[in-house]
Amino acid sequence: MSETLSADVIARAPKVLLHDHLDGGVRPATVIELAREVGYEALPATEPDQLARWFAESAYSGSLERYLETFQHTVGVTQTTPALTRVARECVEDLAADGVVYAEVRFAPELHVEQGLTLHQVIDSVLAGFNEGTEAAKASGHWIRIGVLLTAMRTATHSKEIAELAVEYRDKGVVGFDIAGAEAGFPPTRHLDAFEYLRRENAHFTIHAGEAFGLPSIWEAIQWCGADRLGHGVRIVDDIDTTDPQSPKLGKLAAYVRDRRIPLELCPSSNVQTGAAPSIAEHPIGLLRDLNFRVTLNTDNRLMSGTSMTREMELCCEAFGWTLDDLQWLTVNAMKSAFIPFDDRLDIINNRIKPVYAALKAEQAQSSKG
Ligand SMILES: [Zn+2]
Repeated sequence: MSETLSADVIARAPKVLLHDHLDGGVRPATVIELAREVGYEALPATEPDQLARWFAESAYSGSLERYLETFQHTVGVTQTTPALTRVARECVEDLAADGVVYAEVRFAPELHVEQGLTLHQVIDSVLAGFNEGTEAAKASGHWIRIGVLLTAMRTATHSKEIAELAVEYRDKGVVGFDIAGAEAGFPPTRHLDAFEYLRRENAHFTIHAGEAFGLPSIWEAIQWCGADRLGHGVRIVDDIDTTDPQSPKLGKLAAYVRDRRIPLELCPSSNVQTGAAPSIAEHPIGLLRDLNFRVTLNTDNRLMSGTSMTREMELCCEAFGWTLDDLQWLTVNAMKSAFIPFDDRLDIINNRIKPVYAALKAEQAQSSKG
């Protein structure tokens, strides 16, 4: 019999996060302070609690387009070097305090040039903040490593330029590339030149696909663009026939994704908010885990979803009866799917993840005996 894991155990479990947006994870209090500093007057609230509630409520619209509107405020207050460095530093501190040992955090440089910063200055400012945050976390006893993904907006036309920057910065902390933004009407194949360039440069990329939009988007991302991973990819369940729940039948695309071990960056709370899944209990992550897809668990936008890795793990443990074994499986899956070098991934799995899970399991076994 497995008991529901206690919040304390989940909080202490090592976590790996592959899908987290910098502009979706800003602290509410920081949004308010930055707005004051830069004279941004469009904020809908001036108290951190109120503002946090506003973000969560607006994000709970059931529509990806409205969900994306909330970002105008976090992006609006991060148009300067000090603001970008600060939110990047706080992002790392928050993740480290949440037990994250490795995170790939993504942001779209092109969204932060409204007040005259160049794309290079935007990237340098964020990287400086990540470095400061990593050092600060270490000083407070939390080891963490950050890999950066540069995102291009799929609705715009800068993807090739951003892809070139991802390659230019590959030895300075950037580990990959992504495209994000409204999916319907903006298929990934619009950005083929960026993906072909990255493949020729032996660079890694993930693509937001199969979130609000179905199988064709996933198919294009994998078979036309050559994505290493799928950002969300949750609609892959549309290619799984569960008429007989005892033996689900995979269609050709779902089988390909599972056979090739293509990582799915699943974000349960975010999907419930945008209407991609009706509830956590009905979220396909349970089925996809049971079918042994390369499932990873992610936060997407911690501010908009009022979430953290600990919270996502709690929700899934509650909904699916997951144990420490499941959490370790997800965490190792994510680490195996990271864009940093193989040796570095193994090092984190063997030295930062497995020993801590072993200790937590031993502790649990001990307490259930007592
Ligand atoms: Zn996302």
